[in-house]
Amino acid sequence: MTETLNISVKKIAQSKISQVDFKNIQFGKTYSDHMFTADYIDGEWKNARIEPYEMMQISPASPALHYGISVFEGLKAFKTEDGIVNIFRADKNFERLNISAGRMCMPQLPADIYYEGLKALLEIDSEWVPDVEGTSLYIRPFIFSNDDYIGIRPSLNFKFMIITCPVGAYYAKPVKVKIEDHYVRAVEGGSGYCKTGCNYGPAIYPAKLAQDKGYDQLVWTDGKEHKYIEESGTMNIMFVIDGKLITPALGDTILNGITRNSVLAIARDWGMEVEERKVEVAEVVAAARAGKLQEAFGAGTAATIAHIQQIGYKDEDFELPPVETREFSNKVLAELDNMKLGKIEDRFNWITKL
Ligand SMILES: *Cc1c(COP(=O)(O)O)cnc(C)c1O
Repeated sequence: MTETLNISVKKIAQSKISQVDFKNIQFGKTYSDHMFTADYIDGEWKNARIEPYEMMQISPASPALHYGISVFEGLKAFKTEDGIVNIFRADKNFERLNISAGRMCMPQLPADIYYEGLKALLEIDSEWVPDVEGTSLYIRPFIFSNDDYIGIRPSLNFKFMIITCPVGAYYAKPVKVKIEDHYVRAVEGGSGYCKTGCNYGPAIYPAKLAQDKGYDQLVWTDGKEHKYIEESGTMNIMFVIDGKLITPALGDTILNGITRNSVLAIARDWGMEVEERKVEVAEVVAAARAGKLQEAFGAGTAATIAHIQQIGYKDEDFELPPVETREFSNKVLAELDNMKLGKIEDRFNWITKL
């Protein structure tokens, strides 16, 4: 990271931080004082700037509003006991942002704009990285079409922005999931592997139907036959069966999660047997029925690990072993937490210190 970029800074007149109760933060409602923006105009990224977080203007004809021409990322920063700010695997989010951008006919974002923008923003708002146990600063980088043109074509103008919000301790209650056998999130040849706005809107309705039936979220299955497990809500999904860690292999329809990647790397480092392959619904249901499904969990930045307590399929619900008995998922969660907080060695080089 070299300081080459010229970032203009306009500071907020009066910080909002004194109004925030860091022991009681509601997710996604309170944003830090500043935001970072860069514009893509006439084939060039320019105007890198930090300004107070505030409402902004956008053309009513922007394809971001009409056609979902937007991509986003989600990562977190943590404050260590020594007051250092640790960012977890920001390089992976940068890579993935550009993969999503490519799929949406957006220009690639240069590394200096991403890293220097992120660093400058977190430095100016470092007080917003909470230090109460279990809390963190959620970071949302995103790119969207800033054209003033309602036709359907590759856009010409874009904005890249970063906003941040403190998030509270996530007391992950074990979740009840339903294996979806009608609606689909992604299909081969589609954009399921991208974090693009247009993948998420249509997933809300089927998730709501499941919630109306008492489930917390859906387990998505493949779009052709509903035969293979794909993801759980907006998390990757993993199972422990006969002591083996099993997860669906990546492809067009599965988001390449950074938590997924981290969990698999740690499991392999610990010498655990790991299988990345197609996972049949029938296999998971049979294991659950036979009492062989030792663990099941979602993996994602929001919760890190979300233990699955119950799996519903067609008209049956399968109860999984108590969370306290789940050796791997509890241990890997603690390992990741300790790494992020600098309590153990960063042996994979996943932490960037501010
Ligand atoms: C973001 C996301 C994940 C998790 O990815 P992480 O990088 O671990 O946060 C998994 N599935 C979907 C659909 C997602 O949007």
